[in-house]
Amino acid sequence: MPTFKELGLRAEIVQALDELGFENPTPIQEKAIPQVLDSKKDLIALAQTGTGKTAAFSLPVLQQLDENSREIQSIVLCPTRELCLQIASDMQNFAKFMNIKTVAVYGGASIDTQIRDIKRGAQIIIGTPGRTVDLINRRVLRLQDVQFVVLDEADEMLTMGFKDDLDLILGETPDTKQTLLFSATMPTGIRDIVGKYMKDPAEVSSGGRNEGAANIEHHFYMVDARNKYECLKRLADVNPNVYGIVFCRTRRETQEIADKLMQDGYNADSLHGDLSQAQRDGIMARFRKRKIQLLVATDVAARGIDVDDITHVINYNLPDEEEVYIHRSGRTGRAGKRGISIAIIHSRERGKLKSIERKLKKEFEQRPVPTGQEICETQLYTIVEGLGKLNVNEKQIEPFLPAIMEQLGHLTKEDLIKHLVSFEFNKFLDYYKNAPDLNSASSRGDSRDRGDRRERDDRGNDRDRGSDRGDRGGSRDRGGRDRDFGDERPARRSSSDRFLDKGKFTRFHINLGSKDNMNPANLMGLINESLNKRDVEIGKIEMMNTFAFFELDSEYADKLSSALKGTDYSGKKVDLTIAQSTGANDRRDRSAGPPPRRDKFKDKFEKNRGGSSNSSSSRHSGGGDAKRTGGAKRPRRPF
Ligand code: AMP
Repeated sequence: MPTFKELGLRAEIVQALDELGFENPTPIQEKAIPQVLDSKKDLIALAQTGTGKTAAFSLPVLQQLDENSREIQSIVLCPTRELCLQIASDMQNFAKFMNIKTVAVYGGASIDTQIRDIKRGAQIIIGTPGRTVDLINRRVLRLQDVQFVVLDEADEMLTMGFKDDLDLILGETPDTKQTLLFSATMPTGIRDIVGKYMKDPAEVSSGGRNEGAANIEHHFYMVDARNKYECLKRLADVNPNVYGIVFCRTRRETQEIADKLMQDGYNADSLHGDLSQAQRDGIMARFRKRKIQLLVATDVAARGIDVDDITHVINYNLPDEEEVYIHRSGRTGRAGKRGISIAIIHSRERGKLKSIERKLKKEFEQRPVPTGQEICETQLYTIVEGLGKLNVNEKQIEPFLPAIMEQLGHLTKEDLIKHLVSFEFNKFLDYYKNAPDLNSASSRGDSRDRGDRRERDDRGNDRDRGSDRGDRGGSRDRGGRDRDFGDERPARRSSSDRFLDKGKFTRFHINLGSKDNMNPANLMGLINESLNKRDVEIGKIEMMNTFAFFELDSEYADKLSSALKGTDYSGKKVDLTIAQSTGANDRRDRSAGPPPRRDKFKDKFEKNRGGSSNSSSSRHSGGGDAKRTGGAKRPRRPF
């Protein structure tokens, strides 16, 4: 394998790559870099996201720019703002030891700032097509000196409807330029662009045309349509360290699934076009920091997500076009890492899977839906592993030790370990006790036939399947699983009331949470004030960091929606929508039993925390397990 230096790159660039930890070129870099350095020919590169394509086009372009001129010499076009920012940041890193200026231009941000930056002079513009056209029309962007045009994720730009914009932009560039087109797939629209704008291009590829990356495994689970959500939860539970994207088809479904996951205690959130750019940025920032484990997204919103280390892509629904599946699965398995792409399908979708297999040139592997027992085993070992690695903060725990010793000092070491592990584990045992077999009737034969009743979890570990598949009994909602954020409280009415007249309430989602100085009392105040009425029934309020759910007497639903429309709260535009799903926590409350005993240890613990507005409100909640009364921001597990 050649080194970057052997590919012909200059010392300054190689030094920057060294600092980034890039030791060897990836296959697409190995093919594209010398080609662009040595030849003026246009280039078509078939490369998925995650294969190192950004460096493949950036490095040879950077090497050939005139550092002494501040004229625009290269323009990179890409489909989304996220990708645009990523490419700009990568290019700046690659050019760390060069005198190169880049400007990223994209919608949803101040055009004036971008105009100012362009006027200061830059050799490279990285832009989304819409904003680029806007800047050309304002005569700010002048592309007559451009030597290199890069079309990144060209197929995505076409499916997003940027064909006319691309035509206009390319028409502004001189005939002498070199065009580099990078695309994961080669739909016919791309051929049109190639025919119109590229002359006898060279072609390189990181793999086969329209094929998925080699390091991605493709699994499918076959369940009845009504069991899809339950299957999704089991997949998350059997992979406790999952860091993935769940693809849904519509914005509405995306929001519904994310809401349900959040209510069921998963670190999840949604990304779709109904969210403002600021909301999307916030969600992406949390996803990158791994505060969100499962990002539920539409295809459009997930375009340009280039997060490394994604372990799983889950197709909650299969897309209509095979190429879209290839794009989705390409979000995992980046930079040579292993990734798993999962399809949850029902029996009638087998044909669709087959046509994807033909495009992928790879077969899906059918996996049996994890049983309750398998999940419990996985969770148990995860808990044990986490306990073993836990850092004890001696100073913080010290004041509590006498009270702890008073309560637990009599236990033997073995008993103490059992208690500690059971504290978390019992929830899974309870929840998955009698959990039904979710494999659809038509697929059961297949998955059971696969031999010796041993199977692997998604991380490839072999393990014995228990003899009890737990086919008896109905599904239950999981009790009291902790969540990473948020709090909940039933307001005003007792929990039993809530089940008697459920239909009376409308459940709302509001884009205000504790980070916006919102708490249940303020929310009730806001509702009362907006309705100009003090006695309207408000049901359960679930307060999260950035948003909240609440129930309101349906009679006032319309009035509240119009009263809050266009208003501001804490400087934020209020966005109120009717939540599609019913609160899963209601079901949880029903089985929660009597309020937990408040003992002096917990009282002391809460007092010591200083009591945020959320934790004080949660004290009214009454039912549930000890974790739910904890406070605003908690880790999902105690470690
Ligand atoms: P890309 O396909 O350009 O989005 O790159 C995917 C990921 O691979 C990014 O995190 C890059 O920083 C990383 N990467 C690209 N080229 C190399 C390389 N030669 N060695 C190590 N990592 C790389």
